[in-house]
Amino acid sequence: MSEKRKYKKRYCKYCEAKVDFMDYKDVANIRFSLSERYKIMPRRLTGNCKRHQDMISIVIKRARAAALVPYVVTRKKVVTNPFENLK
Ligand SMILES: [Zn+2]
Repeated sequence: MSEKRKYKKRYCKYCEAKVDFMDYKDVANIRFSLSERYKIMPRRLTGNCKRHQDMISIVIKRARAAALVPYVVTRKKVVTNPFENLK
């Protein structure tokens, strides 16, 4: 059962990339921590560290306010790659 987990290895992507500052306009970065319905992924699934998870949650909320990321997605609007029409 434990072998069948969706997210295998726990490590922080942002620590690995040595991210110190996140821009809310950088949607490509944020999408790692968003589910397909644009919800913020919990830290227990992504493996992000506390520091980066806090940063990501602030950045995502900022991006939502700036309409770069939607708050809610209805069932009809769920697409495989929700970010492709952003650029
Ligand atoms: Zn980190």
